[in-house]
Amino acid sequence: MLLPQSAPERVAVRFPGLTLTHGEVASAAGAVAEKVRGCSRVAVWATPSPETVLAVVGCLAAGVAVVPLNPKVGARELAHILADSAPELLLHAPADDPGIDLPRHAVDVAARVSGEPLPEPDGESVAFVVYTSGTTGPPKGVLLPRRAVASNLDALAEIWAWTPEDVVVHALPLFHVHGLIVGVLGTLRRGGTMWHLGRFTSAAVGQAFRDGATVMFGVPTMYHRLGLDCATDADLAAAVGRARLLVSGSAALPATDHARITEATGQRVVERYGMTETLMNCGVRADGERRPGIVGPALPGVEVRLADVVDGMGEIEVRGPNLFLGYLNRPDATAAAFVDGWFRTGDMAVREADGAFRIVGRRATDLIKSGGYKIGAGEIENALLEHPGVAEAAVTGEPDDDLGERIVAWVVPDGEPPSAAELADHVAALLAPHKRPRVVRYLDALPRNEMGKVTKRALHG
Ligand code: ATP
Ligand code: MG
Repeated sequence: MLLPQSAPERVAVRFPGLTLTHGEVASAAGAVAEKVRGCSRVAVWATPSPETVLAVVGCLAAGVAVVPLNPKVGARELAHILADSAPELLLHAPADDPGIDLPRHAVDVAARVSGEPLPEPDGESVAFVVYTSGTTGPPKGVLLPRRAVASNLDALAEIWAWTPEDVVVHALPLFHVHGLIVGVLGTLRRGGTMWHLGRFTSAAVGQAFRDGATVMFGVPTMYHRLGLDCATDADLAAAVGRARLLVSGSAALPATDHARITEATGQRVVERYGMTETLMNCGVRADGERRPGIVGPALPGVEVRLADVVDGMGEIEVRGPNLFLGYLNRPDATAAAFVDGWFRTGDMAVREADGAFRIVGRRATDLIKSGGYKIGAGEIENALLEHPGVAEAAVTGEPDDDLGERIVAWVVPDGEPPSAAELADHVAALLAPHKRPRVVRYLDALPRNEMGKVTKRALHG
């Protein structure tokens, strides 16, 4: 069973203003299941709310594929997703209508199921159509089968020693796999508690840990914010020092943020690496060695290999029960994504001596071919962040007659901007002369999506 029932009295989900036990979730979601039964695909307006959780769990109980919609998405992207996924119903429709032309059902958190539970659907049936973040192109609909969800959540439970006693705090959106599948369904499958803060604030995170949270799932920008908002190390230690596990994923956690949290609290943030198409692939174990920039070995049951390795760096390919079925309506993209049953992630990595992986970045945007070298953007970004005059940094390549590509540093200064020469010398001194940025461009902020990921294609306009 994808979501087995246990301890009905235990708190399952907690949102600002409403708490539901596992028994209440099962019952109210059962009422949703009765409404959506017979549909093949249903869209859920995925606000961070109990209604979203109930809508999703109800669809899963009825064997109906869920299309989670980003409530902040623009009209054009929303139209693309609805036309592409063709849902039959919209659950939990917004009060201020964005003009979605679909029959709607409200979700009632107090509703109770009247009939018997429905039979468990087949493991290969589609549980979700989740759209990718759109970091590198228009979002693609990823068809995720139930077995991928179930097997991945069990693998994460194993490496993180995740138990029903854990209280996971997070403030992630519920329309991507990180917040929805790992955060919500991971908790429900374990029979534990998920505490959603509604909106991320460092103060709310600190309060949640003081009130019994044990684990946090975050994206790098949240750990960065914690570091900024807690003026002193003692403040940071008071906020997250008592956590059993701090997990970061969805993008690389800068080494400077990892170090700040460790120095202040003794906590070492655990990184995991995943994507919509594969759910999680690698993760540092709760009892494993936690090093900045290292996302751990392949998860139990998942195979990870590096293809076309040059200088130790290769493209990550993945095989295992965690893989998606294909992209919706995109046979071309699906075919291009697989080689002999292995999924080509488009991400580059190095395998460390102990089998853990260090993510270099995306082949398309984070690998710069300059002067005969292949240079990962991430290590230059980390080096730039070590300069006291740099608040945020992104590195890209742009065409250059001599070098093939030249390294461009996009910098959000912290106070008076350091000169381009000073930043270039700083990088060359820490790394190597050929990793020196040739161009430095100053910005007020880096372009980011809702997951806090830097959208590098927006930098080059
Ligand atoms: P799109 O596929 O639409 O361009 P996207 O790849 O950002 O968007 P997601 O599936 O949400 O969409 O994100 C997966 C990607 O996020 C991975 O391929 C990888 O590049 C990045 N990522 C995830 N976790 C980590 C991590 N721990 N370190 C570095 N990068 C990560
Ligand atoms: Mg992607």
